Amino acid sequence: MSASQKQGDIYANVQRWTAKNGLRIYRIRHQPYPYLSGYVYLILGNGFPPTMFDAGSGEGTSFDDIIKGIEQVRKNWGEKIKPQQIEHIIISHAHIDHFGGTHLFKELGDPKIYAHPYDAPIVESYRERTTIGTFAHANFLHTCGVPEDEIEPVLKAFGYLPERTKPVHVDDVLEDGDKLNDLEILHFPGHSAGHIGMRVGEFLLTGDLILSKTLTQNWPATFFPFCGFARTVESMKKLNRLTEKKDPPKILLPGHEDPIYEIQNRIQMVHKSEDRRNTRLQRLLTETEKGMTINELAKMMFWTAHINRRFFALADVAARLEYLMLCGFVSAVNYEILFPGETALRWRLTK
Ligand SMILES: [Zn+2]
Ligand SMILES: [Zn+2]
Repeated sequence: MSASQKQGDIYANVQRWTAKNGLRIYRIRHQPYPYLSGYVYLILGNGFPPTMFDAGSGEGTSFDDIIKGIEQVRKNWGEKIKPQQIEHIIISHAHIDHFGGTHLFKELGDPKIYAHPYDAPIVESYRERTTIGTFAHANFLHTCGVPEDEIEPVLKAFGYLPERTKPVHVDDVLEDGDKLNDLEILHFPGHSAGHIGMRVGEFLLTGDLILSKTLTQNWPATFFPFCGFARTVESMKKLNRLTEKKDPPKILLPGHEDPIYEIQNRIQMVHKSEDRRNTRLQRLLTETEKGMTINELAKMMFWTAHINRRFFALADVAARLEYLMLCGFVSAVNYEILFPGETALRWRLTK
Protein backbone atom coordinates (compact mmCIF):
# COMPACT_ATOMS: atom_id res chain seq x y z
CA MET A 1 0.00 0.00 0.00
CA SER A 2 1.49 3.33 -1.02
CA ALA A 3 1.51 6.29 1.37
CA SER A 4 -1.11 8.09 -0.68
CA GLN A 5 -3.28 4.96 -0.77
CA LYS A 6 -2.95 4.65 3.01
CA GLN A 7 -4.04 8.21 3.64
CA GLY A 8 -6.31 8.54 0.62
CA ASP A 9 -6.15 11.59 -1.66
CA ILE A 10 -7.49 14.56 0.25
CA TYR A 11 -9.21 17.56 -1.27
CA ALA A 12 -10.85 19.86 1.33
CA ASN A 13 -13.82 17.96 2.73
CA VAL A 14 -13.51 14.95 0.46
CA GLN A 15 -11.08 12.06 0.62
CA ARG A 16 -10.69 9.35 -2.00
CA TRP A 17 -9.42 5.79 -2.11
CA THR A 18 -9.41 3.30 -4.98
CA ALA A 19 -10.15 -0.31 -4.06
CA LYS A 20 -8.33 -3.19 -5.76
CA ASN A 21 -11.53 -4.07 -7.63
CA GLY A 22 -11.37 -0.62 -9.27
CA LEU A 23 -14.21 0.97 -7.32
CA ARG A 24 -13.53 4.51 -6.15
CA ILE A 25 -14.60 5.46 -2.64
CA TYR A 26 -15.22 9.13 -1.84
CA ARG A 27 -15.61 10.06 1.81
CA ILE A 28 -17.65 13.26 2.10
CA ARG A 29 -17.59 15.23 5.33
CA HIS A 30 -20.83 16.75 6.61
CA GLN A 31 -22.19 18.27 9.79
CA PRO A 32 -25.25 16.27 10.97
CA TYR A 33 -25.65 18.49 14.04
CA PRO A 34 -23.73 21.59 15.17
CA TYR A 35 -21.66 19.54 17.66
CA LEU A 36 -21.05 16.43 15.56
CA SER A 37 -19.35 15.82 12.25
CA GLY A 38 -19.86 12.75 10.12
CA TYR A 39 -19.12 11.12 6.77
CA VAL A 40 -21.13 9.63 3.96
CA TYR A 41 -19.46 7.52 1.28
CA LEU A 42 -19.98 7.71 -2.45
CA ILE A 43 -18.96 4.63 -4.45
CA LEU A 44 -18.24 5.11 -8.14
CA GLY A 45 -16.86 2.85 -10.85
CA ASN A 46 -16.89 2.45 -14.59
CA GLY A 47 -20.33 1.14 -15.49
CA PHE A 48 -21.12 0.84 -11.76
CA PRO A 49 -24.36 2.41 -10.48
CA PRO A 50 -23.43 5.43 -8.30
CA THR A 51 -24.07 4.30 -4.72
CA MET A 52 -24.08 6.23 -1.49
CA PHE A 53 -23.62 4.74 1.97
CA ASP A 54 -25.71 6.88 4.37
CA ALA A 55 -27.41 10.19 3.56
CA GLY A 56 -26.61 12.57 6.44
CA SER A 57 -29.12 14.06 8.88
CA GLY A 58 -30.95 16.41 6.50
CA GLU A 59 -30.60 19.02 9.29
CA GLY A 60 -28.45 22.14 9.53
CA THR A 61 -25.83 22.14 6.78
CA SER A 62 -25.64 18.33 6.40
CA PHE A 63 -27.44 18.02 3.04
CA ASP A 64 -25.68 21.08 1.52
CA ASP A 65 -22.32 19.77 2.76
CA ILE A 66 -22.90 16.49 0.91
CA ILE A 67 -24.05 18.24 -2.28
CA LYS A 68 -20.94 20.46 -2.17
CA GLY A 69 -18.84 17.35 -1.57
CA ILE A 70 -20.30 15.69 -4.68
CA GLU A 71 -19.49 18.90 -6.64
CA GLN A 72 -15.88 18.58 -5.48
CA VAL A 73 -15.82 14.95 -6.60
CA ARG A 74 -16.93 16.13 -10.05
CA LYS A 75 -14.65 19.15 -10.32
CA ASN A 76 -11.51 17.96 -8.59
CA TRP A 77 -11.42 14.32 -9.64
CA GLY A 78 -13.25 14.64 -12.98
CA GLU A 79 -16.02 12.18 -12.10
CA LYS A 80 -19.16 12.55 -14.16
CA ILE A 81 -21.52 12.56 -11.22
CA LYS A 82 -24.36 14.81 -10.17
CA PRO A 83 -26.33 14.34 -6.94
CA GLN A 84 -29.52 13.49 -8.88
CA GLN A 85 -27.70 10.60 -10.60
CA ILE A 86 -27.19 8.60 -7.41
CA GLU A 87 -28.92 5.27 -8.04
CA HIS A 88 -28.65 3.51 -4.68
CA ILE A 89 -28.60 4.77 -1.08
CA ILE A 90 -27.72 2.15 1.52
CA ILE A 91 -28.46 3.15 5.11
CA SER A 92 -25.98 1.86 7.70
CA HIS A 93 -28.56 2.25 10.49
CA ALA A 94 -31.68 4.27 11.25
CA HIS A 95 -30.15 6.99 13.45
CA ILE A 96 -31.06 10.47 12.28
CA ASP A 97 -27.43 11.53 11.60
CA HIS A 98 -27.15 8.68 9.05
CA PHE A 99 -30.52 8.55 7.34
CA GLY A 100 -32.42 11.82 8.10
CA GLY A 101 -31.38 13.34 4.74
CA THR A 102 -32.63 10.39 2.62
CA HIS A 103 -35.92 12.12 1.67
CA LEU A 104 -33.97 15.12 0.29
CA PHE A 105 -32.04 12.86 -2.11
CA LYS A 106 -35.31 11.18 -3.04
CA GLU A 107 -36.78 14.63 -3.90
CA LEU A 108 -33.71 15.45 -6.00
CA GLY A 109 -33.54 12.26 -8.08
CA ASP A 110 -34.85 8.73 -7.84
CA PRO A 111 -32.37 6.66 -5.85
CA LYS A 112 -33.42 3.22 -4.60
CA ILE A 113 -33.25 3.04 -0.81
CA TYR A 114 -31.91 0.05 1.14
CA ALA A 115 -31.72 -0.78 4.84
CA HIS A 116 -31.59 -3.84 7.09
CA PRO A 117 -35.06 -5.29 7.84
CA TYR A 118 -34.77 -4.31 11.53
CA ASP A 119 -34.06 -0.65 10.80
CA ALA A 120 -36.12 -0.24 7.60
CA PRO A 121 -39.43 0.27 9.54
CA ILE A 122 -37.88 3.28 11.35
CA VAL A 123 -36.96 4.86 8.00
CA GLU A 124 -40.45 4.19 6.68
CA SER A 125 -42.49 5.15 9.76
CA TYR A 126 -40.41 7.66 11.68
CA ARG A 127 -43.45 9.49 13.07
CA GLU A 128 -44.99 6.33 14.49
CA ARG A 129 -41.65 5.04 15.80
CA THR A 130 -40.72 8.26 17.59
CA THR A 131 -44.15 8.46 19.23
CA ILE A 132 -44.06 4.85 20.45
CA GLY A 133 -40.35 5.20 21.24
CA THR A 134 -40.93 8.23 23.46
CA PHE A 135 -43.31 6.17 25.65
CA ALA A 136 -40.64 3.52 26.02
CA HIS A 137 -37.99 6.18 26.69
CA ALA A 138 -40.10 7.84 29.44
CA ASN A 139 -40.58 4.41 31.00
CA PHE A 140 -36.82 3.86 30.75
CA LEU A 141 -36.08 7.16 32.54
CA HIS A 142 -38.47 6.18 35.37
CA THR A 143 -36.65 2.86 35.74
CA CYS A 144 -33.35 4.80 35.87
CA GLY A 145 -34.65 6.84 38.82
CA VAL A 146 -34.63 10.18 36.97
CA PRO A 147 -36.73 12.60 39.09
CA GLU A 148 -40.23 13.21 37.71
CA ASP A 149 -39.62 16.90 36.90
CA GLU A 150 -36.47 16.08 34.90
CA ILE A 151 -38.02 13.44 32.64
CA GLU A 152 -39.50 15.81 30.09
CA PRO A 153 -36.41 18.06 29.80
CA VAL A 154 -34.16 14.99 29.34
CA LEU A 155 -36.47 13.56 26.66
CA LYS A 156 -36.66 16.92 24.92
CA ALA A 157 -32.89 17.34 24.92
CA PHE A 158 -32.53 13.80 23.49
CA GLY A 159 -34.70 15.02 20.61
CA TYR A 160 -36.32 11.82 19.29
CA LEU A 161 -38.95 13.90 17.50
CA PRO A 162 -41.21 13.04 14.52
CA GLU A 163 -40.68 16.38 12.73
CA ARG A 164 -36.93 15.89 12.34
CA THR A 165 -37.21 13.94 9.09
CA LYS A 166 -39.74 12.69 6.55
CA PRO A 167 -40.58 9.02 6.06
CA VAL A 168 -39.09 7.34 3.00
CA HIS A 169 -40.09 4.07 1.34
CA VAL A 170 -37.36 1.43 1.57
CA ASP A 171 -37.20 -0.28 -1.83
CA ASP A 172 -35.42 -3.38 -0.63
CA VAL A 173 -33.93 -4.81 2.54
CA LEU A 174 -30.35 -6.02 2.85
CA GLU A 175 -29.38 -8.76 5.29
CA ASP A 176 -26.12 -10.30 6.43
CA GLY A 177 -24.27 -11.81 3.46
CA ASP A 178 -26.44 -10.11 0.84
CA LYS A 179 -24.72 -8.48 -2.12
CA LEU A 180 -25.77 -5.41 -4.04
CA ASN A 181 -23.68 -5.40 -7.21
CA ASP A 182 -20.14 -5.89 -5.86
CA LEU A 183 -20.95 -4.56 -2.40
CA GLU A 184 -21.25 -7.09 0.41
CA ILE A 185 -23.48 -6.42 3.41
CA LEU A 186 -22.62 -7.52 6.95
CA HIS A 187 -24.98 -7.31 9.92
CA PHE A 188 -23.41 -5.81 13.06
CA PRO A 189 -26.24 -5.35 15.61
CA GLY A 190 -25.76 -3.64 19.00
CA HIS A 191 -25.56 0.09 18.36
CA SER A 192 -28.84 -0.37 16.51
CA ALA A 193 -30.84 -3.52 15.75
CA GLY A 194 -30.33 -3.36 12.00
CA HIS A 195 -26.85 -1.85 11.89
CA ILE A 196 -24.94 -2.97 8.80
CA GLY A 197 -21.46 -2.61 7.41
CA MET A 198 -20.53 -2.76 3.71
CA ARG A 199 -17.50 -4.30 2.01
CA VAL A 200 -16.04 -2.39 -0.95
CA GLY A 201 -13.09 -4.56 -1.96
CA GLU A 202 -10.50 -4.38 0.82
CA PHE A 203 -12.40 -1.54 2.54
CA LEU A 204 -15.16 -1.97 5.11
CA LEU A 205 -17.60 0.87 5.72
CA THR A 206 -18.56 0.49 9.37
CA GLY A 207 -21.12 3.18 10.28
CA ASP A 208 -21.11 3.54 14.08
CA LEU A 209 -19.89 0.01 14.87
CA ILE A 210 -16.37 1.12 15.78
CA LEU A 211 -14.82 4.59 15.90
CA SER A 212 -11.17 5.61 15.75
CA LYS A 213 -11.06 7.68 18.96
CA THR A 214 -14.16 7.25 21.10
CA LEU A 215 -16.43 4.38 22.13
CA THR A 216 -19.68 3.90 20.26
CA GLN A 217 -22.98 4.58 22.05
CA ASN A 218 -24.65 1.65 23.83
CA TRP A 219 -28.37 1.15 24.40
CA PRO A 220 -29.98 -1.33 26.80
CA ALA A 221 -31.73 -4.16 24.91
CA THR A 222 -34.60 -4.06 27.44
CA PHE A 223 -35.77 -0.74 26.01
CA PHE A 224 -34.06 -0.85 22.59
CA PRO A 225 -34.90 -4.27 21.09
CA PHE A 226 -31.98 -6.22 19.61
CA CYS A 227 -29.48 -3.54 20.71
CA GLY A 228 -27.42 -3.94 23.87
CA PHE A 229 -23.82 -4.30 24.95
CA ALA A 230 -23.79 -8.12 24.58
CA ARG A 231 -24.65 -7.76 20.89
CA THR A 232 -22.02 -5.06 20.42
CA VAL A 233 -19.49 -7.47 21.95
CA GLU A 234 -20.60 -10.20 19.50
CA SER A 235 -20.42 -7.78 16.57
CA MET A 236 -16.88 -6.77 17.56
CA LYS A 237 -15.93 -10.46 17.70
CA LYS A 238 -17.41 -10.88 14.22
CA LEU A 239 -15.33 -7.94 12.99
CA ASN A 240 -12.22 -9.44 14.58
CA ARG A 241 -12.90 -12.84 12.95
CA LEU A 242 -13.13 -11.08 9.57
CA THR A 243 -9.62 -9.69 10.05
CA GLU A 244 -8.30 -13.24 10.62
CA LYS A 245 -9.95 -14.71 7.51
CA LYS A 246 -8.62 -14.95 3.98
CA ASP A 247 -9.01 -11.64 2.15
CA PRO A 248 -9.53 -9.53 5.31
CA PRO A 249 -10.66 -5.88 5.24
CA LYS A 250 -7.57 -3.64 5.31
CA ILE A 251 -9.13 -0.26 6.13
CA LEU A 252 -12.26 0.57 8.12
CA LEU A 253 -14.17 3.68 7.10
CA PRO A 254 -16.50 4.75 9.95
CA GLY A 255 -19.41 7.21 9.90
CA HIS A 256 -17.55 9.57 12.28
CA GLU A 257 -13.93 10.29 13.20
CA ASP A 258 -10.96 8.90 11.23
CA PRO A 259 -10.34 5.88 9.01
CA ILE A 260 -8.96 2.90 10.94
CA TYR A 261 -5.81 1.36 9.44
CA GLU A 262 -4.60 -0.76 12.37
CA ILE A 263 -7.83 -2.71 12.73
CA GLN A 264 -6.85 -5.38 15.27
CA ASN A 265 -5.05 -2.77 17.43
CA ARG A 266 -8.13 -0.58 17.49
CA ILE A 267 -10.41 -3.54 18.35
CA GLN A 268 -8.12 -4.40 21.28
CA MET A 269 -8.03 -0.80 22.46
CA VAL A 270 -11.82 -0.58 22.35
CA HIS A 271 -12.03 -3.85 24.25
CA LYS A 272 -9.69 -2.51 26.97
CA SER A 273 -11.55 0.81 27.26
CA GLU A 274 -14.90 -0.98 27.52
CA ASP A 275 -13.47 -3.28 30.22
CA ARG A 276 -12.16 -0.28 32.14
CA ARG A 277 -15.54 1.42 32.05
CA ASN A 278 -17.33 -1.75 33.19
CA THR A 279 -14.81 -2.24 36.01
CA ARG A 280 -15.31 1.35 37.13
CA LEU A 281 -19.06 0.77 37.27
CA GLN A 282 -18.59 -2.37 39.36
CA ARG A 283 -16.22 -0.50 41.68
CA LEU A 284 -18.85 2.17 42.29
CA LEU A 285 -21.27 -0.59 43.23
CA THR A 286 -18.89 -2.06 45.83
CA GLU A 287 -19.60 1.00 47.97
CA THR A 288 -23.32 0.36 48.29
CA GLU A 289 -25.47 -2.04 50.28
CA LYS A 290 -28.87 -0.63 49.44
CA GLY A 291 -27.99 -0.34 45.75
CA MET A 292 -27.74 2.61 43.37
CA THR A 293 -30.01 3.79 40.60
CA ILE A 294 -28.83 4.22 37.02
CA ASN A 295 -29.36 7.98 37.44
CA GLU A 296 -27.01 8.05 40.45
CA LEU A 297 -24.44 5.89 38.67
CA ALA A 298 -24.60 7.94 35.45
CA LYS A 299 -23.90 11.12 37.44
CA MET A 300 -20.80 9.47 38.91
CA MET A 301 -19.63 8.00 35.59
CA PHE A 302 -20.32 11.12 33.51
CA TRP A 303 -20.53 13.85 36.14
CA THR A 304 -19.97 16.70 33.69
CA ALA A 305 -22.73 15.46 31.37
CA HIS A 306 -24.72 18.33 29.89
CA ILE A 307 -28.50 17.88 29.65
CA ASN A 308 -28.02 17.15 25.90
CA ARG A 309 -25.87 14.17 26.86
CA ARG A 310 -27.95 12.93 29.81
CA PHE A 311 -30.04 10.39 27.90
CA PHE A 312 -26.91 8.98 26.24
CA ALA A 313 -25.13 8.70 29.63
CA LEU A 314 -28.12 6.90 31.19
CA ALA A 315 -28.42 4.54 28.20
CA ASP A 316 -24.70 3.74 28.38
CA VAL A 317 -24.82 2.87 32.10
CA ALA A 318 -28.08 0.91 31.67
CA ALA A 319 -26.59 -1.11 28.79
CA ARG A 320 -23.50 -1.95 30.87
CA LEU A 321 -25.55 -2.97 33.94
CA GLU A 322 -27.74 -5.14 31.74
CA TYR A 323 -24.60 -6.82 30.35
CA LEU A 324 -23.06 -7.25 33.81
CA MET A 325 -26.36 -8.76 34.99
CA LEU A 326 -26.34 -11.11 31.99
CA CYS A 327 -22.85 -12.22 33.08
CA GLY A 328 -24.03 -12.63 36.70
CA PHE A 329 -21.93 -9.80 38.19
CA VAL A 330 -24.69 -7.43 39.28
CA SER A 331 -28.34 -7.70 40.25
CA ALA A 332 -31.18 -5.39 41.12
CA VAL A 333 -31.75 -5.10 44.88
CA ASN A 334 -35.42 -4.31 44.54
CA TYR A 335 -36.26 -6.34 41.45
CA GLU A 336 -39.74 -7.02 42.78
CA ILE A 337 -40.27 -3.26 43.31
CA LEU A 338 -41.01 -4.00 46.97
CA PHE A 339 -41.59 -0.49 48.12
CA PRO A 340 -44.85 1.30 47.28
CA GLY A 341 -44.38 4.22 44.90
CA GLU A 342 -40.92 3.04 43.84
CA THR A 343 -40.32 2.77 40.12
CA ALA A 344 -36.52 2.89 39.90
CA LEU A 345 -34.45 -0.27 40.13
CA ARG A 346 -31.45 -0.12 42.45
CA TRP A 347 -28.36 -2.10 41.48
CA ARG A 348 -25.59 -3.80 43.46
CA LEU A 349 -22.91 -6.41 42.97
CA THR A 350 -24.12 -10.02 43.05
CA LYS A 351 -22.89 -11.74 46.22
ZN1 LIG B 1 -25.71 5.74 15.36
ZN1 LIG C 1 -23.68 8.29 14.00
